[in-house]
Amino acid sequence: MQRALALSAAAAVLAGLSTTVVPAVADPPHNPGGPCLQDNQNVSRASVAGYDDVVQALDRIERTSGGVVEVDSAGTSGEGRDLLYATVGDGPATFWLQARIHGNELHSTEAVLQVLDRMASTSPWAQNLRDRLTVVVIPMYNPDGAEANIRQSTTPNRIDLNRDWENFAQQESVAFWKLWRNTAPTYALDLHHMSEAPRVEGTDDLNQFQIGARSIDPARMTEQQWATNRAMAMVSVDALESFGPVNVAKYPDIDITNAALSRMLLGGTAPAGEQPVTDPPTQGAIFYEVRSVGQKSNGQLENLFRIPTTAVLEAAASGQLASYDSSGYAALPFADSGQCGEM
Ligand SMILES: [Zn+2]
Repeated sequence: MQRALALSAAAAVLAGLSTTVVPAVADPPHNPGGPCLQDNQNVSRASVAGYDDVVQALDRIERTSGGVVEVDSAGTSGEGRDLLYATVGDGPATFWLQARIHGNELHSTEAVLQVLDRMASTSPWAQNLRDRLTVVVIPMYNPDGAEANIRQSTTPNRIDLNRDWENFAQQESVAFWKLWRNTAPTYALDLHHMSEAPRVEGTDDLNQFQIGARSIDPARMTEQQWATNRAMAMVSVDALESFGPVNVAKYPDIDITNAALSRMLLGGTAPAGEQPVTDPPTQGAIFYEVRSVGQKSNGQLENLFRIPTTAVLEAAASGQLASYDSSGYAALPFADSGQCGEM
């Protein structure tokens, strides 16, 4: 049907008839999941932060912060890169902000560097946040995977670092577990990309953001953890809804006990030679999934991380999370699943 219409439109042009009808009938087939990456498409990552960019950005932010940002290494990756993190603020509640545990999920790194930059500034907003929170920022949890542009580790067994907080097969997992234990964060936020954008269930709306309030079944959480997760989720969703047409959906209900966030909530596991944490300090741990790489929309994709992240930091700092109205959570839609272009 599309082809027949296109041919008749072309015939109309050739015949010198009015071209005003051509754009409508000559449009490519509507593709609510697209634009879709093609198998042979070469995705340029030149504009996306790589490991060296992270090293340079952290160095600059630390040097110009007047002593309010400290950059350290939690250990080294399988290929020997430093597992860099920044600490900003000295408030009583610790907030863990991590990006790019999956190396090929690109834009979260730049987004958290922007958030860190803002928290390091001399503005009253930044000063207030630093007085109330200690924020641990991990711009690139998986630098080897990021440089190779793959999801997992680059070791031959290709371990998914977000499924390794039970086995601790990778040294990245050991290093960041120890950092988690030592910093004892009350809140944790983990930034991801989902596959190319689906639609919000039952609609034609392009779903650009999924909220992950539960990496494990809520029955495994304490009541307070589940309440805090939903509050963090709705602060994020409400911030995005005031930003524009993002068409938020819930991430599918999962129960993945070996993910980093899951074990921050559950405790109970530890790398060899370490004692498991039996009383987890983490009271809220959620994740974001932003739609996948779009080279002409890097800034927009960064916004989809930066805006809700900033809102959750503010709510954690102000104490608002404890009483936030999260009654809208249950009614949030899911998204349709399927391959890009097939929906
Ligand atoms: Zn991911």
